[in-house]
Amino acid sequence: MDNKPKKPTPSIKQNHGRHQDPVERRKNFEEVATGFTLEDAVTEAARCLNCKNKPCEMACPVNVKVPEFVDLVYKEDLGAAASKIFETSLFPAICGRVCPQEKYCENACVLKEKFGPVSIGRLERFTADYARKNGLITPPACAPDTGFKVACIGSGPTSLAVAAEVRKLGHAVTVFEALHEFGGVLSYGIPTFRLPREVVRSEVETLRKMGVRFLKNVMIGKSITVEELKKDFDVIYIGSGAGLPSPLNVPGEDLVGVYSSNEFLTRINLMEAFKFPATDTPFYIGKKVVVVGGGNTAMDSTRCAMRLGPESVTLLYRRTRAEMPARGEEVENTMEEGVHFEFLTAPVALEGDEKGRLKRVKCVRMELGEPDASGRRKPVEKKGSEFYIEADSLVVAVGQSPNPVIQQTTSGLSVNKWGCIAVDETTGKTALDGVYAGGDVVRGGATVLLAMKDGKAAAQAIHARLMAKK
Ligand code: FAD
Repeated sequence: MDNKPKKPTPSIKQNHGRHQDPVERRKNFEEVATGFTLEDAVTEAARCLNCKNKPCEMACPVNVKVPEFVDLVYKEDLGAAASKIFETSLFPAICGRVCPQEKYCENACVLKEKFGPVSIGRLERFTADYARKNGLITPPACAPDTGFKVACIGSGPTSLAVAAEVRKLGHAVTVFEALHEFGGVLSYGIPTFRLPREVVRSEVETLRKMGVRFLKNVMIGKSITVEELKKDFDVIYIGSGAGLPSPLNVPGEDLVGVYSSNEFLTRINLMEAFKFPATDTPFYIGKKVVVVGGGNTAMDSTRCAMRLGPESVTLLYRRTRAEMPARGEEVENTMEEGVHFEFLTAPVALEGDEKGRLKRVKCVRMELGEPDASGRRKPVEKKGSEFYIEADSLVVAVGQSPNPVIQQTTSGLSVNKWGCIAVDETTGKTALDGVYAGGDVVRGGATVLLAMKDGKAAAQAIHARLMAKK
């Protein structure tokens, strides 16, 4: 790049990347954040101070070598930059898009207070995309085959992280996925306008090139049990996620037009219902859509609904914006796209017409009381505050718990009262010998990076176990 700024030049304004115009983007499923150009990336990389103690790298759950890869971006050596990230994470195009960097690396950046942090997530995404599009990705070398076999249940980020690490160490890996697409929530939950499918497919493809075997449409616990798998594999890793939706527990949840976020997002994202009738899956949302919840799932549900062309989309959240668990960036994107937010509001009943179709939502206003077990102030109903919102459809996005199939069909696993598998925190070892678990099936709903962190830690423990056997 000509006229490259000298490194470090921290006072250059932080670049938040380019975005599709909100009015245009709410009519399409194309990616909202359009990313950096090479010039943007090099200029942003010039801001990095290359701190000796690497606070960004230390704050990253998978310890991506941030200062080193950012320096290689500055030097415009994008293949080397991608390889540097690959040393600790094989999924930079995914993490660069959906990881909450504002909590991890960017939060630790020393420039944060004075100039704004280096946009590390956007640089990671740019590096991965550039390397992919220009054929610069070299899958990491794998150690010679050890003869040991590892099975991963589920193909979400936690299993993908296990597969990557264990395969690099020379063990054979087979991933069993219940759905017809790999990636877990990355494929069936997070919409394409935040994470294009080709990005997930390409990062799965890197694993395939390393020799990882992927089998789809296999539901462990139904098609094959964990006991049966144990006969063919030395170690089993359970990464089956938290795909069981939590209900609202109010009257009327069985009305036509009421969806769980899982069903709604799977229809739209995995089955591509937004292309119906070109695809086989239809959807019904009507003119007025209501979504209940305050997390990433709720934001994704409102934004998908908006793109299906209703008159209005309203979000009900029982606390205030400050308590919302969704990423700040996603809340802002959602607001920009015209979703109407009703804070301190909770539904208490869903009412239908004579045909059993949702017609209106009875709501109450809330106020915040004393902090609850989560540390957040508990919402308390305001007496006499009932009011109605008209709705043709409603999406419930108030939390998820693990699907119980594996827990119910595998004796010896220890499960807590929320249905999560109990494990040793450092190794991911379950109560069952040779069986490990991690990600949302253990945490009950967390983040992509924490799922990957669990996978990486379990992979080390699995390797140690197998080597001890040898
Ligand atoms: P999952 O991703 O859930 O994958 C589990 C896989 O196991 C699934 O593919 C499932 O089909 C399969 N499976 C289940 N049971 C079986 C079985 N019996 N046999 C075979 N396969 C099975 N996190 C972020 O960091 N940033 C975000 O922006 C973000 N947005 C989100 C948006 C939505 C809509 C949702 C739902 C979650 C979001 N999260 C986000 C959370 C994040 O996606 C999860 O924490 C993460 O995907 C958990 O990874 P996992 O591998 O444990 O499980």
